[in-house]
Amino acid sequence: MSSKKKCPGVMENPRSHYAEPLETLAGVFGYPAFRPHQEEIISALIRGEDAFVLMPTGGGKSLCYQIPALQRPGVGIIVSPLISLMKDQVDALRANGVAAAFYNSSLGAAEARSVLAELHGGRLDLLYVAPERLMSEDFLERLAGLEIALFAIDEAHCISQWGHDFRPEYVQLGRLRRLFPAVPIIALTATADSQTRDDILQRLGISRTACRITGFDRPNIRYTVEAKQKPFAQLLSFLGTREPYDAGIVYALSRKRVEEVAARLCEAGFAAAPYHAGLPDRERARVQDAFQRDDLQLVVATVAFGMGIDKPNIRFVVHYDLPKNIESYYQETGRAGRDGLPAEALLLFGYGDIAISRGLIENGGNPEQNRIELHKLNAMVGFAEALSCRRRVLLGYFGESPEVDCGNCDICLTPQKRFDATEDARKALSTVYRVGQRFGMGHVIDVLRGSRNERIRALGHDRLSTYGIGSNLGQDEWGSIIRQLVHLGYLEQDLARYSVLRLTESARPLLRGELTLNLARPRIRPVPARKAKKVREISRDGQGQNNGLFQQLRALRKEIAGREGVPPFVVFGDATLAEMAASRPANAEELLSVSGVGQHKLGKYGAEFLRVIAEFGG
Ligand code: ADP
Ligand code: ZN
Repeated sequence: MSSKKKCPGVMENPRSHYAEPLETLAGVFGYPAFRPHQEEIISALIRGEDAFVLMPTGGGKSLCYQIPALQRPGVGIIVSPLISLMKDQVDALRANGVAAAFYNSSLGAAEARSVLAELHGGRLDLLYVAPERLMSEDFLERLAGLEIALFAIDEAHCISQWGHDFRPEYVQLGRLRRLFPAVPIIALTATADSQTRDDILQRLGISRTACRITGFDRPNIRYTVEAKQKPFAQLLSFLGTREPYDAGIVYALSRKRVEEVAARLCEAGFAAAPYHAGLPDRERARVQDAFQRDDLQLVVATVAFGMGIDKPNIRFVVHYDLPKNIESYYQETGRAGRDGLPAEALLLFGYGDIAISRGLIENGGNPEQNRIELHKLNAMVGFAEALSCRRRVLLGYFGESPEVDCGNCDICLTPQKRFDATEDARKALSTVYRVGQRFGMGHVIDVLRGSRNERIRALGHDRLSTYGIGSNLGQDEWGSIIRQLVHLGYLEQDLARYSVLRLTESARPLLRGELTLNLARPRIRPVPARKAKKVREISRDGQGQNNGLFQQLRALRKEIAGREGVPPFVVFGDATLAEMAASRPANAEELLSVSGVGQHKLGKYGAEFLRVIAEFGG
């Protein structure tokens, strides 16, 4: 496959070199093969057809318009809503020797003039534009006189009011089809339900046959849910299992918690910083930038973080608190592993969080909206409590039904130990009955365990026949049992009324002793912090030869990135460095066969990387 790549030589405009998309893929981007669907989308556009692409984050949407823009005559116009992402995309393209630029409000007058001069001189292959700029009369007039390869509408769901991120300035894009009937349009998004999809097609005038939907699955992300017990200790023990340089995001629901967790991580020796909407713009930009440049390992953030970042090597996302719905959870976990390398999503799931989220929802005004949000929260809880493959539950939520279990989630990887819980279940159900089916889980557990609190005495619940019959088990164990009873349908929780527990019809045979019941043991317990540290040291000592070289290559990448003022991943991605460390190319030709090394980067950085590899010995 690497024979498709040209031999190193003098760089010219790559467009004049490659007749075929596969050659451009290899020669410009350094990749040996297309990912699923990329090739057919690219061919359709090159033929002048439209395309609608629904592909998960990290699926490789960008190449779907970048390669046709290089292959077709004229300039490709790319519409993107986020100015910060435009610059990264353009930096990455230029690093591959592609003539790309952006045109938005962040440019000074002189820079803007020079971009327009390049555009009119036919010297650009790709131009990234903000939607309101593109649709200004002045700019449309400019375009009318130029050859245009294609229009690409990134984050196309922004055009739909049904989508979760409607942007009024996107609506104008609906005029493009009429204004430029002969120019193909490609619309791309990672999140759109069927209503939003139809809306995008209709508004942009794209035919239904142009749809390419590649599914939602992110197979490289491993989903894990742990019962939340001592969350910070759990976080530390998780970090202890990761490489010390792995980048990650920790999401928490409140600003206060974000600040607190970030401070404790710094204390524990991690390069961590908080990020939330209450911080000054400048500080937020600094955190984002440092993270992007691998100077910061961990960002502890509220949901506000992530929209404007495009960092491919985020290795894990931890949810310290329960997200409000599956859409948010999926979007946030989806920021991990965009480069396709293994990544992890860890959710710490505590029952207390549900009550907090529910309270927040109920305090919001509109009852109809509240009902929808409670429903979405329930689905999220259902995911966290699931005893079957996590990926099945997630994809099922988005309307897909995989045929087999994924083999890459906590449920698939460590099937739960089960125990005969018949007696315990009966104790719990009787207690729910004795307290009049008018109390939530916390109170029921207090009664079971014979707790001596004020409320119990005041209510006279210390005189119930079930008072103290469950003192053999801890609070967490009872929590786990009751949750499972809810999940299996023996108990129901009145979500509209303080999560009051009630028996269902199915509880009767169990209470009467006509049924035995096996339940899962609560999963994974937190490793004490001290032990976590040890894990960390071991994983550091245990790094092999390849990893030593990998670290040196990373250091070189960082140095080059600093020199050129771009994020490190623009130089080479982690997957490319890992392949270099493993295959240890000895000359330019071997280096070129590493995935991610194209002609331009070979010419620019090849010698330096080859030198580090040669000097590493082995
Ligand atoms: P998306 O926009 O769909 O989230 P990107 O276009 O940013 O994803 O692609 C994600 C990563 O995958 C990028 O690092 C990109 O260079 C890489 N990539 C895309 N297509 C291929 C391919 N055919 N072979 C190898 N890597 C690819
Ligand atoms: Zn699974």
